[in-house]
Amino acid sequence: MSLATTALTGLFSETDLTRINSLAATNFQNLGQKYQKFIAQVIRVLRENFPSATVYNDADLAQLAAIADVIGHDSRAMMKRLKTACTGCGWCCSKTKRIVVTEADADRISRKLKQKREALFVFNNGEWEIRQAQPCQWWNPRNGRCTIYNERPHTCRSWPLGINDNDINAIIPQSECNYAVVALAHKTVMLLQAIEAGQGVQPLAPAAGI
Ligand code: SF4
Ligand code: SF4
Repeated sequence: MSLATTALTGLFSETDLTRINSLAATNFQNLGQKYQKFIAQVIRVLRENFPSATVYNDADLAQLAAIADVIGHDSRAMMKRLKTACTGCGWCCSKTKRIVVTEADADRISRKLKQKREALFVFNNGEWEIRQAQPCQWWNPRNGRCTIYNERPHTCRSWPLGINDNDINAIIPQSECNYAVVALAHKTVMLLQAIEAGQGVQPLAPAAGI
């Protein structure tokens, strides 16, 4: 049994732990290399900033980070506290291939900009998205700013929180986004602290909604 599994046994019931491990494994399976790259960045942040993480090897830390990723709802309040982790790199506005918005956002922004909705957005695979992405048509490469900041869609306001397949708020596993990486590192530290304290804590409940 890995050190991580042994440590977690003291926190969760056998049933919960089986469920949590299976959810974590699903992320590795479904997201493949993208998820591995994301977790590798989280491990780097943990090693650089949290001495208590050093007792674990990389495989253990990967397991703990993936588990931290699937327990507890990721709240806006937590993301607000961690906002300084955003480096302003502009990746989210310039490199995202598909920027999905709500229909209400598409309507509101088109009205505000006095343009036809279809000129700015496209309906694709059952969802509205910004017509021109990568970079986004409203990203100013000279200063890295959004030219419709006050009107930006909901998806941009909540990034790097997104809605996952189980309809809950979850950190988007984007290795290039320091904000997302630090947010999961933070959740992993909470898990490590709970392990150190030897107690199950309220926020650390399976949150897959299944
Ligand atoms: S609308 Fe603004 S915040 Fe959203 S992706 Fe485009 S430039 Fe970025
Ligand atoms: S990709 Fe992440 S770190 Fe970079 S600007 Fe966007 S939110 Fe900030």
